[in-house]
Amino acid sequence: MEIYSITTGVLSVNTYFVVNKITRDAILIDGGQDYAAIKRKEKQLNVKIVAELLTHAHFDHSGNAHRLQKDGVIIYCSKPDAEKIENNQTLSQDFGREFDTFTCDKTLSDGDEIVIADIKIKVLLTAGHTDGSLCYIIGDTLFSGDTMFYESFGRFDFPTGNFDELVSSFKKLFSLKENYRVLSGHGEETTLEHERKYNPLAGMIYD
Ligand SMILES: [Zn+2]
Repeated sequence: MEIYSITTGVLSVNTYFVVNKITRDAILIDGGQDYAAIKRKEKQLNVKIVAELLTHAHFDHSGNAHRLQKDGVIIYCSKPDAEKIENNQTLSQDFGREFDTFTCDKTLSDGDEIVIADIKIKVLLTAGHTDGSLCYIIGDTLFSGDTMFYESFGRFDFPTGNFDELVSSFKKLFSLKENYRVLSGHGEETTLEHERKYNPLAGMIYD
């Protein structure tokens, strides 16, 4: 398995390509808004995007998924955030952006374990940024969406965001045994161990 990243859009969203080295099938984590950039990267990496896992509904993460879906990419999301996508509760109006609503192909719940392109994915519900925010564990990597950032955390003041739930979700992530590499929806990468020490929310959990 190989992981590549690309950062696109006005809000600089990180999209990750998780690639099966043998078949060159790729799973996208949050495709962002820029369809052309994703298609260019797909070509450059010589892969075929077969699925997209959304960490949450916000337009900067999910904005091009309706186009990828038309290409045959299977779109996954939590149920609460799939409903937001259907109802365009994606913050797009707040940022003056167009958003094409669509219906996700599959919904995921906490604890689900799925296999796509022979790659094993574990699903964790980490509410707080939105009530349906998901993190994905693939191999030694945790894809944390807008829940956990390098020495920071996602905003909890958007609709369905909740600070107490965000703290509970950090507790859940910090209780994981492994020191995962953490790849988040915005900004640079980090590790769980680093965040256990330096994340501002860690103080609320360990004090
Ligand atoms: Zn967000």
